[in-house]
Amino acid sequence: MKGAFLYGPMDLRLLEVEKPVPGEGEVLVRVKAVGVCGTDIHYYLKGRTAVFVPKHPFILGHEFSGVVEESRGGGFRSGERVVIEPQIPCFKCYYCRRGRYNLCSSLKFIGTAATYPHINGAFAEYCKVPVEVLHRIPDDLGFEEAALAEPLSVAIHACRRASIGPGEKILILGAGPIGLLTLIMAQLTGAVEPLIVDNVERRLDWAKEFGGHPINFDIQDVFEEVMEATGGEGVDVVLEASGSPKAVSTALKCVRKGGRIVLIGNLPDEDIPSRLLNIVIKELDVKGIMRYANTFEVAIKLLSKKMIPSSKIITHTFSLEEIHKAFEVAINGQALKAIVKP
Ligand SMILES: [Zn+2]
Ligand SMILES: [Zn+2]
Repeated sequence: MKGAFLYGPMDLRLLEVEKPVPGEGEVLVRVKAVGVCGTDIHYYLKGRTAVFVPKHPFILGHEFSGVVEESRGGGFRSGERVVIEPQIPCFKCYYCRRGRYNLCSSLKFIGTAATYPHINGAFAEYCKVPVEVLHRIPDDLGFEEAALAEPLSVAIHACRRASIGPGEKILILGAGPIGLLTLIMAQLTGAVEPLIVDNVERRLDWAKEFGGHPINFDIQDVFEEVMEATGGEGVDVVLEASGSPKAVSTALKCVRKGGRIVLIGNLPDEDIPSRLLNIVIKELDVKGIMRYANTFEVAIKLLSKKMIPSSKIITHTFSLEEIHKAFEVAINGQALKAIVKP
């Protein structure tokens, strides 16, 4: 089979390798669609992420759907259409037993260098996965749309942790794919015209198209815009999806008293100076989110009921041979979500 291996920074090689052989409890998936994620881009550009340094070449790609080719695990037959939840928990530890399996003490992740040996991902014709991570998809849901279940899961988890109520005022920092999916999800949970901040015009245009009130921080004062839109009170909830240390300060400033802040973005691995006194005097709830848990069934339902504008989110599709092009449009910001179809 063909697979795209990461060898180092900007060094992605499409190689012909042996088809993986599923072991007991595993399933071989014929990959049909894989999304290019921010994490993939990080690995591609830097050859690593902030915390994970690859020890050997491996196949990237973790937002994917496909067809069961061969099953050595119970419950699934060959030919079934599936989407894969790329985190592999142990199902035994303290966190797993409490349903918070995204925090699993020995979590593995498909298509990253998080654990050694690294688990090959889905920019390939085939990928083998444990049966527990499969979710069936309905006939009316296309493979490309189904691949959105993973990034959409992040938005669902963030909105759940934010406990958004009907009519609440929301500020989203960052209008990348996760920020935009969070914008859509926040409205499904009751937010009206959330404010959304970025400095890339194309992203802000998408934000407007998806129902948001765009703010360009290069030419507008975010705090003033927020105060104007909220009668000087600040927003009920800030969802931080940019990963920028400055955005944390913006969140602490723009949230109202008694409000909530949810940090979604991957902040740099360092101390970040911020006026934490605001948490005390405004009596804020500040939460982080680490991926997601118990979200895939909901994501699949929302996607198949067309409650997510998938056709507008998926802006580009490519063959596996064109994988470098897929990364290019994702990096230069032309694509909202680029999908590779091996
Ligand atoms: Zn992802
Ligand atoms: Zn566990």
